[in-house]
Amino acid sequence: MAASIPATHPQSTRARAAIARSQGAPLTIEEIDVAVPRADEVLVRLVATGICHTDLVCLHGFPVPMPIVLGHEGAGVVEALGADVKGLAVGDHVLLSFNSCGACANCADHEPAYCHQFMGRNFAGVRLEDGSSPLSQNGSVVHGEFFGQSSFATFAVSRAVNTVKVDKALPLATLAPLGCGIQTGAGAVLNALKVKKGRAIGVFGAGAVGLSAVMAGRIADAGAIVVVEPNAQRRALALALGASHAFDPQAGDVVAAVKAAIGGLDYAFDTTGIPAVMKSAVDLLLPNGTLGVIGIPPPDAPFPFSIMDIYTRGIGVKCIVEGDSDPHEFIPRLIGFYREGRLPLEKLIREFPFERINDAFAAAADGSVIKPILTFRQ
Ligand SMILES: [Zn+2]
Ligand SMILES: [Zn+2]
Repeated sequence: MAASIPATHPQSTRARAAIARSQGAPLTIEEIDVAVPRADEVLVRLVATGICHTDLVCLHGFPVPMPIVLGHEGAGVVEALGADVKGLAVGDHVLLSFNSCGACANCADHEPAYCHQFMGRNFAGVRLEDGSSPLSQNGSVVHGEFFGQSSFATFAVSRAVNTVKVDKALPLATLAPLGCGIQTGAGAVLNALKVKKGRAIGVFGAGAVGLSAVMAGRIADAGAIVVVEPNAQRRALALALGASHAFDPQAGDVVAAVKAAIGGLDYAFDTTGIPAVMKSAVDLLLPNGTLGVIGIPPPDAPFPFSIMDIYTRGIGVKCIVEGDSDPHEFIPRLIGFYREGRLPLEKLIREFPFERINDAFAAAADGSVIKPILTFRQ
């Protein structure tokens, strides 16, 4: 195996990483060691990485072992490869996405977002095979493997299964969020609910996921594309990206307003995780409509509607993970839309130097930036 590893990486690689040491505390940038990639692993030098809501959730209470390096929208350059990795070469540009086992029934059917080991492969902080971490500091374990990457660092170890090669001419910083947030919103429309031409969709919450759903709604040639969002700037951006209507839920009865404007919705996507918002979404669905659940709800929240509320209209409820995406198939498709100008991601992002990661987290948390992207000094 040693022959497959360039001479510049005979041992572990020194990296700078933003370490989460305790819940809610600021991230601290520290030196760590990143292990030589194993047979199915890839060592990636990060050029950029997006910040996704799940990173915030994990820093603020969702159970992950600490200390850990978060980050799961990495984009960079392949530095070294394990012997079993096919289809990649040193120097390739890659986007990193979520991890999956590659072997269970759902992975075999190209549904890796529903991998039987999804939670362990993305949140355990260790390699499930043997409980080890590719990251360490002075011989002590630093948890890694977050979404099979832990990309808040200058170097990351990913797996072949979640490492997608892209054209070197493409801007890695702009495309980084394809690995999670963008494919979640666009995939909800195109993969999970397969929105039909001319049908009405409602998007509740116009963050990166919701705005991606709006852009995908245009790609799917939906009819009305309704956005419900309290932030005026985001409503304006949603309209610029292709929404036909935008409503402020704080301005009055949003259910009555949407019904007055277009009658009702065939598809409703909740990206907020707020039960009261899901209730409005369900109230707006037309017979045989579908509620797509994308937002992360409070841990103990039940559905805010009764079985009879949805039964008599034949309403379907689909909880959607990672936009039902197979990253190796869907990310290239999304890049095609980007090249055609139909997925203008540059309108969602703002770049921060990696060293300002805590400012970027604050901007994501207070909503002042839709999609912060960290960039690494070369
Ligand atoms: Zn699997
Ligand atoms: Zn994410």
